Amino acid sequence: MSTVYGLTGGVGMGKSTVARLLAKAGLPVLDTDDLAREVVQPGEPALEAISEEFGMEFIGSDGGLDRERMAGRVFDDEAARDKLEAIIHPRVREQWLEAISGWRASGRDGVVVIPLLFEVVAESSFDRVLCVACTADTQRQRLRARSWSDAQIDGRIAAQMPIEEKMERADCVIWNEGAQEVLREQLTRIGVLGTSLP
Ligand code: ADP
Repeated sequence: MSTVYGLTGGVGMGKSTVARLLAKAGLPVLDTDDLAREVVQPGEPALEAISEEFGMEFIGSDGGLDRERMAGRVFDDEAARDKLEAIIHPRVREQWLEAISGWRASGRDGVVVIPLLFEVVAESSFDRVLCVACTADTQRQRLRARSWSDAQIDGRIAAQMPIEEKMERADCVIWNEGAQEVLREQLTRIGVLGTSLP
């Protein structure tokens, strides 16, 4: 029987880091941020919906979405952001649901990274939901290292469910304050990674 994991957590708290570790260990890992980029590549049907809704000027010279221009358009316009998400999110969800069906059919474990897993009410698709968390100070340090301003950091954190609530709702919390080796130990202890006996 396969176990399908949903991986979530606060922005900058270490979701991608955990995902990389799991992928390296051989688990199939799908990241919804990557999928969201894929569904707006040249020729994808989402692009047509976007150009109908927002105009052709958001399609870049390569035929894909002009992400920078689009980001600028929806930055402080919630209604526009909702419209964009209504185009992109169902297509992304379709892709990961399909991947999960494949894993289940072949009895494989798999992981889907969804930053806003609880916000979009996706829990029921997973056998176990894992939440990656760390202190607010560490989170801020990591986001500053991405050259984000404090205002950007505050905005992104405010747009998400508080981490305490995510931790409470998750089946398991991965505490990411230490070295990567500590992450590996936690993932082994909760059974996501197999124990490799010497
Ligand atoms: P998320 O995917 O949740 O936004 P990332 O995995 O990208 O977070 O981590 C945010 C930043 O913090 C990255 O630059 C990453 O390299 C760094 N980071 C994550 N976990 C650790 C850790 N345990 N020790 C040191 N740096 C870390």
